[in-house]
Order: sequence, then structure tokens, then C-alpha cells
Amino acid sequence: MEKFCPKCGKDVESLVAGLCKDCFLEKKKPAELPARIEFEKCKACGKVKFKGKWLEESQEALKALALQGLRNKMFDSFKPSVEFFEKPEGFKAVVSLEGKVQGVELSQRLESLLSAKTVLCDSCMKLKSNYFEATVQVRFEKKPSQEIFESLLESADAFLRPLQRQDSLASIAKVQGLKNGMDLTVGSNRAAKRLAQFLASKSIEKVKVSSTLAGVDKSGHEKLRYTYCVRL
Ligand SMILES: [Zn+2]
Ligand SMILES: [Zn+2]
Repeated sequence: MEKFCPKCGKDVESLVAGLCKDCFLEKKKPAELPARIEFEKCKACGKVKFKGKWLEESQEALKALALQGLRNKMFDSFKPSVEFFEKPEGFKAVVSLEGKVQGVELSQRLESLLSAKTVLCDSCMKLKSNYFEATVQVRFEKKPSQEIFESLLESADAFLRPLQRQDSLASIAKVQGLKNGMDLTVGSNRAAKRLAQFLASKSIEKVKVSSTLAGVDKSGHEKLRYTYCVRL
């Protein structure tokens, strides 16, 4: 049987809360999204914080941030899709929801501005305050030329960069040039070990490892600082 909307008089197949879809959406918001969602973004590595974790800034991370702010009030179920538009003050997120309210198919469009608050993430803060878990010592037979020195640093940086996606401390905190080589302090021990193996892959000598006690952490565990020696 044909029904009609008591508000606008339109003939429709089904009513939602006694109204046609248009009149219903005009009066009610089945879901709500804050006009502005603030998130933290690291000014050094560019990662964004989501539920206490630092993630690469990606479409997925931004989508998760936008949907986290969503409040469903009336949808029985819905499927969201999100589009982003870059703005000087952040990202405009347009969220489209397709779902059912009281058994009737409805779509709703919502907007929010995701605005970044620039901070330093925990890892970058540590690296800035000279935190490091390991040192990679690179030693040459004789004093290396400036070019060799620089190209080695460049390849070390290039090697570490993809590791930073998973491990923000996979970065050189400090470089110290020496007569016959250099010392690289690295934030993460795992990354330092892999870097040493990578640098030693061009040499016939194996990496030598040693460790010293760096202190005791809050839970009473001994903290070791590792040194990887690479002879080229
Ligand atoms: Zn109506
Ligand atoms: Zn960072």
C-alpha cells in the first residue's frame, strides 16, 4: 500500500519514524560526527597517534581517526566510506554511511575537519635526548676519505629508513667521526644489529658484538647497551 509523508505530503513506499526519508534526515541525525577531530602528529617523523599507538600517516590511519569520532544513534547497521580533502588547516573528511534505520535503507553524509596538533612522538623525543640502545662502530684499515665517510652514512640512512615504519627508534641518533672510522649510535638495538650486518656484508670480517651494563630499569631488569664492530 502506498504511504504518504504527513510533513511534505510525498507518496513513498516506506516511512521512517512516520516520515519520508528526506524529512526524517532533515529532523533527525541517525549518526553524528564532531565538526572537528584533533589528532597528534609528530613533527620529526610524521607519524600520527591513534589509540595510543604511533602509526604512519596513511589513508587507513586517517580513516580510523575519522570513524573513531563517529556516534551511531539510530542505524541498525551501516557501511561507512570516507573521502579526504586536503585543507590548509588539516584534512576534511567526508563520511558517507549506507545503512538501515528501522528497517529502511538510508544514507547519511557527514563532515569533519581532522586537524593535526604537532608534537614529538615518544621515539623522536628519546632520539632527541640522545637515547640509544646500541653503537655501530665502523673501522677502516686506514683513515677513510670524506667521500667514503659520507657515502657510508648515506647508505646507513637509506638502510634504516624502511625499518622506521615498524620501529621508530631505527634511526642514527649521533655520528662521531674518528681517525680510522666512525661510531654511529642507533636508537634501537634490533636496527643496529641489522645495520651492522648490512655494512659487514661487503667485508670478509664478521661483526663482533659486545655489551655493557647501561643501568637498571624501573622493574629491576638490567639494561644492556650493545656495541657492534664492523671492520671494512
Ligand atoms: Zn516528507
Ligand atoms: Zn616521531
